[in-house]
Amino acid sequence: MDLEIDNKFKEECGVFGGIDFDNKLNCSKLTYFGLYALQHRGQESCGIAVYLKDRIKCHKDVGTVNQVFNEEILDGLKGSLAIGHVRYATNGQNSNINAQPFIISNGKEKIAIAHNGHLLNAKDLKSKLAKYKLNSTVDSEILGYMILNELEKNVSIENSIISLMDDIKGAYSLVIIVKDKLIGVRDPLGMRPLCIGKLNNSYFIASESCALDAIGAEFVRDIEPGEVVTIDKYGIKSEKKQIEEQKKLCIFEFMYFAREDSKIDGISVYKARENIGKELAKSFKIDADLVVGVPDSGIPASIAYAKESGIPYGQGFVKNKYVGRTFIKSTQSERVMAVKIKLNPIQENINGKRIILIDDSLVRGTTLKGIVKLLKASGAKEVHVVIAAPPIKFSCFYGVATSNRKELIASSKSIEEIRKYISADSLDFMSVESLLRAVGKQNNSYGFCTACFNGEYPYVEDEEVQLTKKAINF
Ligand code: SF4
Repeated sequence: MDLEIDNKFKEECGVFGGIDFDNKLNCSKLTYFGLYALQHRGQESCGIAVYLKDRIKCHKDVGTVNQVFNEEILDGLKGSLAIGHVRYATNGQNSNINAQPFIISNGKEKIAIAHNGHLLNAKDLKSKLAKYKLNSTVDSEILGYMILNELEKNVSIENSIISLMDDIKGAYSLVIIVKDKLIGVRDPLGMRPLCIGKLNNSYFIASESCALDAIGAEFVRDIEPGEVVTIDKYGIKSEKKQIEEQKKLCIFEFMYFAREDSKIDGISVYKARENIGKELAKSFKIDADLVVGVPDSGIPASIAYAKESGIPYGQGFVKNKYVGRTFIKSTQSERVMAVKIKLNPIQENINGKRIILIDDSLVRGTTLKGIVKLLKASGAKEVHVVIAAPPIKFSCFYGVATSNRKELIASSKSIEEIRKYISADSLDFMSVESLLRAVGKQNNSYGFCTACFNGEYPYVEDEEVQLTKKAINF
């Protein structure tokens, strides 16, 4: 379901980069199309930086890709090496100054950097960069200056980044332009996705494979956790940090953030959502007449639930696609109104029926309460809510703006209390075990971050947990 209306999570960010060895393609234009395909990962600002031999040129602003760029702007960014970014302001205010990519210079070297994720120890890292004048409040600028700082020691860019990985704690997938190189970096636990694609004699790096599909590039492979991939006229080079820990890819990529036509680390997002629906049907056998899903990310799970259970699937709502992300809803009544504007139940499908309502997750409960109310007002005899995620009890520190922990309804209320609050006839949540099974792995040995559900935060040593939680207003 759309974030702005239900105010669940705010997405992370999306990054894209391209390099063309034949100097025939306008990589900024392809980056524009790539960012278009990644727009679901951030709508507040976006930008593209292009390498022009003697300089790096950048255009960025507040707004969506089609608002910020036009033909004329893209013509002015013509070049065969470009990176881009779409941003949701998870840290730092949303303003032009925080839009990415960042161009960072120490007088000698100049790099462009775009970042998806969030650092836990940004404050500490920033304090080590006192000699530079940082302009923004975002982590990407810190990362850029750290890389430049390391480069001053005359080591290669790949080794510079690998050696920094010991100091940096948090989630980061990066695309970087250094001289005539396109570089992709994924943090040692691989918390955010990043993949490589190829189109004729050009290579691309993207947060999700759907962006490669959008420009007609073939998927080559995912970038591994702790890997630094450098692409230049000499080909592709890879350096990897030796890591003993398991991968910790954010499990919410499969349930919520990523597009259904993307594959991440070999797992189809659509298939994962479908498996979630099957698992739910096996776990929760409910006597009902119709299965409906909350658009959009609740739909594949509800179709699969219906198939597995034998209960018919029906469209429960029409979603208004034209409600923008700038909709103001600061009060409770505005939030309820926002639900009505966004989702309108189809009374003919609902009236007189016992409904199984499937939603992808439950954060505050406010929206779901509104949706249950709408269904009952449309004549639903019963509304049985099934949540395609375990109860979210902990906030995210890795670039996903979940609510403050106090606002997470499952952090303080029992399932029965939540059921009463949303006025549902029954309420069930998926278990962490079923979720991991649905995503394709029998246990967590493959490695997913599930900290939202169990508070097991990656990159945080046990003794650091309390301090970190305190520092980030847990
Ligand atoms: Fe994803 Fe939750 Fe982990 Fe954040 S805490 S990275 S949202 S699983």
